Amino acid sequence: MNGPTNGVVQLVGAGPGDPELLTLKAVRAIRGATVVLVDDLVSDGVLRYARRSARIVHVGKRGGCASTPQAFIERLMVAEAHRGERVVRLKGGDPFVFGRGGEEAEHLRAAGIEVDVVNGITSGLAAATALGVPWTHREHARGVMLVTGHAKEGSDAPHWPTLGAAATQGLTLVIYMGVSQLEQIAAGLGRALPPRTPAALVQGASTRAERRCISTLGSLVADARRGGIGSPAVLIVGNVLHGAAALTEATPLPAPRSPAKRGASLRQTS
Ligand code: SAH
Repeated sequence: MNGPTNGVVQLVGAGPGDPELLTLKAVRAIRGATVVLVDDLVSDGVLRYARRSARIVHVGKRGGCASTPQAFIERLMVAEAHRGERVVRLKGGDPFVFGRGGEEAEHLRAAGIEVDVVNGITSGLAAATALGVPWTHREHARGVMLVTGHAKEGSDAPHWPTLGAAATQGLTLVIYMGVSQLEQIAAGLGRALPPRTPAALVQGASTRAERRCISTLGSLVADARRGGIGSPAVLIVGNVLHGAAALTEATPLPAPRSPAKRGASLRQTS
């Protein structure tokens, strides 16, 4: 497509962190933008593609506010687009996998603004790749569920035993925003899945700060604590991780971007 015109906002996926994982379309959109609104989880390396003259607005905690209210971000996008600015809203991972991309698109369309969405590699996929495993595998998993561990205020938390039961049908669970709820998640899933079920956390997938903790459901909380795993991290649960255990035992995973030492055995944290 050509660059945006008056009244268009591009919601652009910045990928999980490594700028090399940006799509060509994302790079073109960032280069063409006169205003870039940036989420916290977007790595600084991605912004090197922005024009010097572009106005870069950090709308997360790094912007100085506790967290910029969503309504303010939406108003700002509408105002800038109406002014004729070429607005790019840069979001971590894929704009439509959690992170309110759907809400933003609805708001923009309701304001009469055309929305162009540019996909990015979602962090849950980068996390699996960091572990050397796929989401699906003919032997281990016939599908995948992407779930948020963080419910919207006022709404119920997911019923983890039910999701655990679904995982017994050969589905890999990929849980975003789950670090602060790790105990509840592990306990809930543990009501449906055996404690030896493989589980792994990846923090900062594809970034220099990447850390991995390969464990089992029964030992996850203790191992994550020992490994000092924090946000942002993705939790992956399921038999596809048998491949990760085998890989870490056999050969260290290649990690040119991460200075962290690779684990040599199951349950070791890197
Ligand atoms: N749209 C984003 C998700 C936003 S929700 C995407 O597609 O990836 C924010 C959550 O994403 C974090 O709490 C964490 O669970 C996950 N996340 C984002 N970047 C990550 C990264 N580099 N490594 C691991 N998890 C990440």
